[in-house]
Amino acid sequence: MKIVNPATATVIAEVEMAGVAEVDRAVERARRAGPAWREVSPGDRARLLRRFARLVDDHADELAGLEIANAGHTIGNARWEAGNVRDVLDFYAGAPERDHGRQIPVPGGVDLTFSEPLGVVAIIVPWNFPMMIMTWGVAPALAAGNTVIVKPAEWTPLTALRLAELALAAGLPEGVLQVVPGEGEVAGARLVEHPDVRKIVFTGSTEVGRLIGATAAAQVKRVTLELGGKSANIVFADSDLEKAAASAPMAVFDNSGQDCCARSRILVERSVHDEFLERLAGAVRALRVGDPRDEATQMGPLISAEHRERVASYVAGLEPYATGSCPDGPGYWFAPTVLAAPAGFDPLAAGSGAFHRAHTEEIFGPVVTVVPFDDEAHAVRIANETPYGLSGSIWTRDVGRALRVSRAVEAGNLSVNSHSSVRYWTPFGGFKQSGLGRELGPDALAAFTETKNVFISTE
Ligand code: NAD
Repeated sequence: MKIVNPATATVIAEVEMAGVAEVDRAVERARRAGPAWREVSPGDRARLLRRFARLVDDHADELAGLEIANAGHTIGNARWEAGNVRDVLDFYAGAPERDHGRQIPVPGGVDLTFSEPLGVVAIIVPWNFPMMIMTWGVAPALAAGNTVIVKPAEWTPLTALRLAELALAAGLPEGVLQVVPGEGEVAGARLVEHPDVRKIVFTGSTEVGRLIGATAAAQVKRVTLELGGKSANIVFADSDLEKAAASAPMAVFDNSGQDCCARSRILVERSVHDEFLERLAGAVRALRVGDPRDEATQMGPLISAEHRERVASYVAGLEPYATGSCPDGPGYWFAPTVLAAPAGFDPLAAGSGAFHRAHTEEIFGPVVTVVPFDDEAHAVRIANETPYGLSGSIWTRDVGRALRVSRAVEAGNLSVNSHSSVRYWTPFGGFKQSGLGRELGPDALAAFTETKNVFISTE
């Protein structure tokens, strides 16, 4: 497959795509590597993962450069991503040494609880944050003693392939971490249905996640699903409006809106709605969109020409309230776009118009809708009027309200007076159709182990 730089529309690499036979060989290799890997002592496993983290750090500029060229990330984002890969490897490196199991007092003997690795784990990755999302699965899965196969998205395999080389250079035994670039419906589907793959971690669209969940269910295979989102950014009249408006653009346009946590629906209390829109428009017009290698750039291109067409279809027939700038081309550019609700629009009513579609469907591009609300209860109802539930923000100076609304919004990751979505120390994942299970944080290891209980009679 020809790999394209989305900022220039030029081919930068060619990558062999794995078919079913190659995937089967990778699974066999992972299965064979399993018993020796789980026997590596906790201290040695920790040392190998820390060495892997150090190599990532040593190659951070190279990895960031690959991500800029392959995924169109801005240099700031790409550096942050490489740092996150290092940190997540470091964070889980210590896990094998902290897994002490449990001894629960029972009558008649000694009762031991162990965490056992699952075996072969497959991680299926989307194109929006390729190396970071891959690592959120790889690090805890390896730490827990599993062997891992990564299937990167078709368009963005380069950092995954480089990370696999670095893992080998760090001393991870062959077969413990493998990368199989390939098409979703071929290589991805084979991993999901392969009986020797014990767990699938899938990050991607809700549509494909549903298919994967159904196939996995037939084998009672473990799955973690991280799917789509349509998150709300709720701005109350008592908030620091200047700060809320200044930060709202990057809460949705970061990575060109190709972010599952994008706050792509802004809900604003009616009394400050017009003032907020004005401030937001100013901030959007000031955004620097262009060459992702330029330190000053805030937003780069979309991933592909097809994706740009899809994003454009959401804006067709609508008059944007404001748009930012973007280069003409080559490359897959799309200007950041603000859509204000037409007069009389009811976000709680069913509808089929163009604005309704933009306001309810995941666009995965730099388009945001702005809708007024009347009071706290109304804001919560609008925020929850979606099949998704991944993230969201609440802007208010009233701490009681911040907590009430945080508890009432059906989403896995919320931030108050902030748009922070990812802190690797804390759990990450979605409510409703945004997913199943959690990644990151102290509990992610549980998603990569089986609990085993053993009773030893002393009578
Ligand atoms: P996608 O679902 O098209 O593809 C994701 C991955 O699944 C790719 O590697 C693809 O090759 C593979 N795939 C496709 N069909 C498959 C099949 N039948 N069997 C097995 N694998 C298959 O998603 P995308 O377009 O790459 O990514 C965008 C989507 O990802 C958005 O909906 C976004 O919200 C979501 N996402 C979610 C999170 C999260 O953490 N919740 C994070 C990033 C992206």
